[in-house]
Amino acid sequence: MSTYRDRTHRNSTRATVLRTVATRERRSHLSAPRVPTVGIDIGGTKVMAGVVDAEGNILEKIRTETPDKSKSPKVVEDTITELVLDLSDRHDVHAVGIGAAGWVDSDCSRVLFAPHLAWRDEPLRDALTARLAVPVMVDNDANTAAWGEWRFGAGRGEEHLVMITLGTGIGGAILEDGQVKRGKYGVAGEFGHMQVVPGGHRCPCGNRGCWEQYSSGNALVREARELAAAESPVAHGIIARVGGHIPDITGPLITELAREGDAMCVELLQEIGEWLGIGIANLAAALDPSCFVIGGGVSAADELLIGPAREAFRRHLTGRGYRPEARIVRAQLGPEAGMVGAADLARLVARRFRRANRRRVERYERIGVGLLPTRGWVSGR
Ligand SMILES: [Zn+2]
Repeated sequence: MSTYRDRTHRNSTRATVLRTVATRERRSHLSAPRVPTVGIDIGGTKVMAGVVDAEGNILEKIRTETPDKSKSPKVVEDTITELVLDLSDRHDVHAVGIGAAGWVDSDCSRVLFAPHLAWRDEPLRDALTARLAVPVMVDNDANTAAWGEWRFGAGRGEEHLVMITLGTGIGGAILEDGQVKRGKYGVAGEFGHMQVVPGGHRCPCGNRGCWEQYSSGNALVREARELAAAESPVAHGIIARVGGHIPDITGPLITELAREGDAMCVELLQEIGEWLGIGIANLAAALDPSCFVIGGGVSAADELLIGPAREAFRRHLTGRGYRPEARIVRAQLGPEAGMVGAADLARLVARRFRRANRRRVERYERIGVGLLPTRGWVSGR
C-alpha cells in the first residue's frame, strides 16, 4: 500500500496510476494461488465457517453459536480455531479469512470494536496466525460480503460498487477498481448511522434519526409490532398469524405475509424500500457508483423491497435526467456472501505470504547459506 500511495503523490497523472494499480489488483486475483481457503463469518448469533475453492464454490460448511459477549476474547479464538481444525481434517487449508461484525482497522489485523463480542482493540490476526500456523486476514463482514458479491455474485464486472446489507441494522461497503475502500481508520461504509431524520428514532449508537432506524429489519419489525400493539384494523392478518402474541412478529414472517398479499406487510416493506431508495440517492450523490448491491436478510423480500427502492431512488437522485443511473440489484450469494468473500480475500494473503517466503529463501540462497539462519545473523552480517 505504501508504494501505491507514494506513487500517487509523486505522479501528476493520478488517473493513469490509479488505472495501473487497479489492473494490477485485478490481475492479482487471477494470479492468486488456486487453492482452497477457509472463510469465517462471525455474526451476532452464529459463526459460519466454510472451505471455499478459487471459483467461489463452497466445498463444506459448518456452523456454531457465537460465544456470548460476556466471554473473553480467547473463547472466541478457541471457537474459530476449533472450526478451522475441524475443516482441516478433511481439506487442505492454505489461509483463513474472517469477516467479523465489527470495526476492523485498515491493516485488516485488529478488531477495534465488535458490538456482539468482547473484542476491544483485539489483535485478532496475530493471535490466530500464531495458533493456526497459516496466514490469516480479518475484515469487516460487510466488506467481505461485498467482495464475495463482486467476485462471484451480483456485482461481477462492476468497477464501482456499493453494497448495502439490510439485517437488524444496515451494513455497507465500498469497492472501487477492485479494492475495498476501508478509509484511513478502517471504518468506512457505516452508512446505517448517517442521520436522515433530525430528532428521529433513537439509535443504539447514541444518535437519533439514523438511516438504519428507518430501513432495516429492526425498523420493519418495530413498525409491524407497533401497529399490532395498537390493534390497528390493518394488522388483523398478522395478529391472527401469531395468535395475538406480538413478540412472535419477525422480519421473515412479514415478508412471508407480504408475498401472500397481506396489505399491511406489503406497505411496510414498501416504506422500508422507500427509505432505502432515499439513502441510496444520497450515497450516489457522494460516491457515484455504477451499481448498488442489496444484501442481508431483508433483501429476501426481493422486488417487494427493491422495486419501491428503485422508484424512490429515481425521485431523489440529484441531477436526475442528466446523469446515468446506477443499477440497484439484489445480492446473489445469500447468507454465505460474507464467508465466501472472506475466503477469497484470504487467498490474496496466502499469495503474499508465499511470495515473501520465496524472496527470503532466494536471499539466503544468494548469500550461499543452505539452511535458514537466524534473523540476528542476517542483520549483523
Ligand atoms: Zn445510529
